[in-house]
Amino acid sequence: MKDQVRDVVEWILAARRIVVFTGAGVSTESGIPDFRSAGGIWEKYDPEDFTYQRFVSSEEAREQYWRLGSEFYHSLKDVKPNPAHVAIAELERMGKLDCVITQNVDGLHQMAGNSPEKVIEVHGTFRTVTCLKCGKRYSREAVQEMIDSGTKVPRCDECKGILKDDTIAFGQAMPERETAEAFRRCEECDLCFVIGSSLVVQPAASMPIAAKQSGARLVIVNRDPTPYDRLADAVIRGSAGAVMTQIVEAVRARIV
Ligand code: NAD
Repeated sequence: MKDQVRDVVEWILAARRIVVFTGAGVSTESGIPDFRSAGGIWEKYDPEDFTYQRFVSSEEAREQYWRLGSEFYHSLKDVKPNPAHVAIAELERMGKLDCVITQNVDGLHQMAGNSPEKVIEVHGTFRTVTCLKCGKRYSREAVQEMIDSGTKVPRCDECKGILKDDTIAFGQAMPERETAEAFRRCEECDLCFVIGSSLVVQPAASMPIAAKQSGARLVIVNRDPTPYDRLADAVIRGSAGAVMTQIVEAVRARIV
């Protein structure tokens, strides 16, 4: 075992509050592309076309949004958690997890076995849809049925308002409760993991930094460098699945 992994295992054993912060890289091994790696989503689409302001002001933008959304939906609907999600869920089972703060909208942490109340989704979820006018909620599946039967831009069946999935678009306000809760948990933890995030999307990327500034140890597990590597107590380069499995198995061997 590498020295760094050995250190991280000791830190987990000693920690009282562990926060795991995840990004798109934790789900690539489930077959969901991230945004910024080679072959990622932003090589195919221009993020400027998907701002919240464009969505609410233009029917054409909404049509484009739902086209990308449908592609994302069909690639996501049958995905399964991978070893990284399973290892993080195992941390909870071992009583070692305060919460998971995720930028992901795919719901895979809950599917892997993390309790819903321990998962804070700071960028929302793609599994539900809300009417921006009256607030009526729909399952994403029901809205996808409308799209698959020919509707280009779905509307609310109660008030004809604009429907939008519950993910946070560029330019859209972050969910207040989840954002405040995530910062609070980061400030109170003593060990913070960042797994599979480029740490460039703000304000989410500031959350693990808040943990470090409040005195927690910071561990970054990522395939590529991030702007905050120099602040971390350990940076482990590699696949989230392999690295987290190795770490959690070593912890389990010491606990059991
Ligand atoms: P990002 O695309 O900016 O960065 C992903 C990072 O993960 C990269 O640095 C990459 O090197 C690393 N990575 C990729 N696969 C990895 C692996 N198997 N093991 C270790 N590292 C790996 O992702 P981000 O920081 O989460 O920001 C992108 C935004 O896009 C987020 O806001 C998120 O909401 C959204 N998004 C979500 C999903 C999802 O729900 N699965 C997918 C794509 C994008």
